[in-house]
Amino acid sequence: MRQTKQRTEIERIFQDFNRPLGPQEIHEIARKSLTSINLATIYRTLNRMLDEEVIVAVGVPGEPDRYELKKAAATHHHHFRCEKCQTVYDLQGCVENLKAMLPNNFSMTSHDIWLYGICKDCN
Ligand SMILES: [Zn+2]
Ligand SMILES: [Zn+2]
Repeated sequence: MRQTKQRTEIERIFQDFNRPLGPQEIHEIARKSLTSINLATIYRTLNRMLDEEVIVAVGVPGEPDRYELKKAAATHHHHFRCEKCQTVYDLQGCVENLKAMLPNNFSMTSHDIWLYGICKDCN
């Protein structure tokens, strides 16, 4: 019963924040409504949600993974990471004509773009 409540709360947080979140971040947010929730429970719940493919990992270069809802990940998008608060935000759209960068006889199967800077909360 407790487990269900915590799972529901974590899913609500993903919906509300609508951006990639890390376990620590989720813990800090969840603690406001479920004061007794601990980090181990967050990790366990995230692992279960990963197994069920409700969420996917967002690999942040050189940092622990963040996670986002699989349905958000289904739309092609990229991410911005704030250098001050380490928050990761979703970006809309993509870069045009990436293939123009390719040398002759190279073909591209995928791409990965990260933008870094300072977010509006830190600016
Ligand atoms: Zn920031
Ligand atoms: Zn793209």
